Amino acid sequence: MEKKVDVAIVGASLAGSSLAIRLANLGISTAVVDKSAFPRRKACGEGLSDVAVGILQSLGLGPALENTEHHPFHGYQAWLGNFSVDIACRPPFRGKPKGIGIQRYLLDELLLKKVSNHQHVDLYLGKKVRRVERDGEQHILEIDNHTTISAKYLVLADGANSILAPRLGVPCKKAKVPRWGLSWIYEGQFSQPVHRVAIVIKNGYEIYCTPVSENRVNVCFLSRKEFISELSDSDRSKLEIAQALEKIHFRGAAASKPVNIGPIAASRRPVHHGSVLLVGDACESLDPISGMGMTHALITSMLAAEALNSVINLSVPRDTAFAELAKKREAAVRPYRGFTRLTGILLRGTRNHERVLAALAKTPFPLHIRNALSVDPLEGSAASAFASAILTVAGL
Ligand SMILES: Cc1cc2nc3c(=O)[nH]c(=O)nc-3n(C[C@H](O)[C@H](O)[C@H](O)COP(=O)(O)OP(=O)(O)OC[C@H]3O[C@@H](n4cnc5c(N)ncnc54)[C@H](O)[C@@H]3O)c2cc1C
Repeated sequence: MEKKVDVAIVGASLAGSSLAIRLANLGISTAVVDKSAFPRRKACGEGLSDVAVGILQSLGLGPALENTEHHPFHGYQAWLGNFSVDIACRPPFRGKPKGIGIQRYLLDELLLKKVSNHQHVDLYLGKKVRRVERDGEQHILEIDNHTTISAKYLVLADGANSILAPRLGVPCKKAKVPRWGLSWIYEGQFSQPVHRVAIVIKNGYEIYCTPVSENRVNVCFLSRKEFISELSDSDRSKLEIAQALEKIHFRGAAASKPVNIGPIAASRRPVHHGSVLLVGDACESLDPISGMGMTHALITSMLAAEALNSVINLSVPRDTAFAELAKKREAAVRPYRGFTRLTGILLRGTRNHERVLAALAKTPFPLHIRNALSVDPLEGSAASAFASAILTVAGL
């Protein structure tokens, strides 16, 4: 059976499903294919920034999000020994919370429900795209059950470890040392109200604790492969986690087996390659240290939808629309890239961790940096320039 659509999207996670909703709203016929069956658990810190929450609201998901189990937070607190520093935190309890912790299986379900209700979208879950071939202007996707999808435009939303991107000749820059992730849901009690994510930085690894409900916390390790394998089921991980959870005044026990992910290497690909577009992690994976991957996925999908609308509905020449997309994407993503680089280098990359953190603990981040999570995605280059300037001046 061959299904003909305007746009085929590989990957129905955050980037793919949010793009499908936007395209369907524009009357563009779309097929979305994902090899996973949903709901599924995904190794993720599960912290969603306020910008991401705003984008989900613009997709009409505000009320559903409100009614789904989640936990608001104001920012991140990074710990090294007894030192701590607030990153992108607004003063607690003033103004609206910045973001929310929400379990990925719940978030994915919200988006996929919206996708599956749309008459312009065909959704294929639990189906792997095995091959992509060209037939003139069309991309022909072969999926598991021998159904083929034929589409003029192909979008790769298949994550940082995209298998299709190299097969289609898309160039990629990857960081040399990949890391691995491991995440659990812990269930228990907070001894006081907590509205922040704790990042505990140790020698060679980090632990993230993100409250995701009144009685649940996502605990996520990020490190080398050997260390992660050691931790999957050990008393050492229990002790490390209990100590990390103290930073957010939480006591509890694992409510699930850990989910593993890796290798994760910060990677970067162009936003388009001929008539193939790339969104989310498939295009660029940001360092999870300040949790902006999901925000990035939603922003890049929003911009890709705009470009596809220009080409398909407004007859703008493809090269013009995609060049414009590349420019807008760069401007939108730079502050997030700059911010993750800055926090990553400051908190992880320097040999003088303690001194840096001690100084940072006394001197709050400049407002530009603190607000990096809140900048309008289309007007944020000032924050990025500022972050680069600080890096240069500090010699980091
Ligand atoms: C340890 C860790 C912690 C993180 N913590 C946070 C956080 O707290 N906050 C935050 O904002 N971000 C965080 N991130 C980043 C965030 O998880 C990602 O940026 C986000 O999931 C990217 O979404 P995506 O849709 O681009 O890709 P993905 O979520 O990776 O989805 C890709 C999809 O493509 C499908 N797929 C792949 N190949 C094929 C194929 N051939 N055929 C069909 N389907 C295919 C996969 O099944 C998958 O569903 C974290 C990441 C890690 C690794």
